[in-house]
Amino acid sequence: MVKKNKFYVTTPIYYVNSAPHIGSAYTTIAADILARWNKLQGNDVFFLTGTDEHGQKIQQIAEEAGLKPKEFVDDIAKKFKETFKLLNISNDNFIRTTDEKHIKEVKKILQELYDKKLIYKGIYEAYYCVGCEQYKTKQELIDGKCPLHKREPQIIKEESYIFKLSSFQDKLLKLIKSDKYLISPQKRKNEVISFIEEGLKDISISRLKSKVNWGIELPFDKEHTCYVWIDAFWNYVTGLDTKKDFDKFWSPDIQLMANDILRVHATIWPALLLALNYELPKKLFVHGYFTINGEKMSKSLGNVISPLYLIDKYSVDTLRYYLMRKIVFGEDGDFSEEALKESHNNELANKWGNLVSRVAALAEKCSLEETTPLNSKILIKKTQALIENLELDKALNEIFSFIDQLNEYIQSKKPWETHDKKVLYQLVNGIKDASILLSPFMPETSEKIAKIFNFEISLKSLNESIKISKIKKVDILFKKV
Ligand SMILES: [Zn+2]
Repeated sequence: MVKKNKFYVTTPIYYVNSAPHIGSAYTTIAADILARWNKLQGNDVFFLTGTDEHGQKIQQIAEEAGLKPKEFVDDIAKKFKETFKLLNISNDNFIRTTDEKHIKEVKKILQELYDKKLIYKGIYEAYYCVGCEQYKTKQELIDGKCPLHKREPQIIKEESYIFKLSSFQDKLLKLIKSDKYLISPQKRKNEVISFIEEGLKDISISRLKSKVNWGIELPFDKEHTCYVWIDAFWNYVTGLDTKKDFDKFWSPDIQLMANDILRVHATIWPALLLALNYELPKKLFVHGYFTINGEKMSKSLGNVISPLYLIDKYSVDTLRYYLMRKIVFGEDGDFSEEALKESHNNELANKWGNLVSRVAALAEKCSLEETTPLNSKILIKKTQALIENLELDKALNEIFSFIDQLNEYIQSKKPWETHDKKVLYQLVNGIKDASILLSPFMPETSEKIAKIFNFEISLKSLNESIKISKIKKVDILFKKV
């Protein structure tokens, strides 16, 4: 019997300052593909996503909108849930940092850190960018402004509780350098190492409640609320629903994120875990940013793209496919609707959709005759290795070059003239293998194809061949736009 492994994957929890956009969709789709792939391999999977709902920025935005913070975050969290459903995201839990259970657990660990004397009271003075909800060092500012938000940070000087982050510096460096706390890609790991080598400073983990009230109260001082990041990190623990889930799935096998939150994830997060004697996550993977038609995505440029618009106009699988194939996972990329449309029409409708319809129409009229199937063993192995290595774009390249071969094969063998039952057998089985391998990327389409040809999406059916055709009704898989 093959040993079942556990696989715990997380996305960052999304800050609810605005509705989900294509960037949050991207990370979540990538995590979903890894979750579905591992399920296909027979592993036990826990996939966590959710929303980060406290902090000064939310307090401000809600005030501006004339709403109570809780009303405001309820509304946005609902939008995230709805969007993820439409994106066909298979998450096992959706954590919200305003969940009762989460708040209780965060208070517990704050108390524990305080009891361990890892939190002390002092006067904290720092630059703080509300946009990032992060402290900034002077060196990070460009012309005195946050490079991301182009705004001058606040100068905070107030009574605060401070976490002894500096005392974890050497331990963290060792863990990161030795890949026991693996940060990937390599260039990101190098950046983190040089940042830590400059010296980690202790950080404030609280704000005066009179200034920031939208946060979790410190259990040992009711005048203070907890710094939003400490609260947010703990979602990865509290998001595992039960003690049983925790015992089974802790720690995360992979945590996906964009570069803007890597630094905190590479320092504060593991330091908290070390302080509280938790096993560290195995791997942090940093994916790239993307521009929209060559420009930075921003509200002021008016080029923020809603995933819902794209799902509606094309299909959910088109969006999932495009983002994973055209943007090299781990590198920056560019999004353009024109290119997505081209992918939809050429690769999905013409190549994949057409092949499936043609073969189904032929197999409906004549039966299959068993023969040596087209060799997909190498494809299966390659795809497996590439996905495990997080080269998702390359895995899709492999599968689609196999689809190209199937298209060439049907063209050269002309089964519509010859009615060659052996050729049909090979084509049907080739389609089966490609759609099983594609199922984590395009679950909806693969399920439709599985229904047409009457096979199951599983590892087992990769190794079994379809011997008789029992074709069910064929709908057009991708309507051209
Ligand atoms: Zn900023």
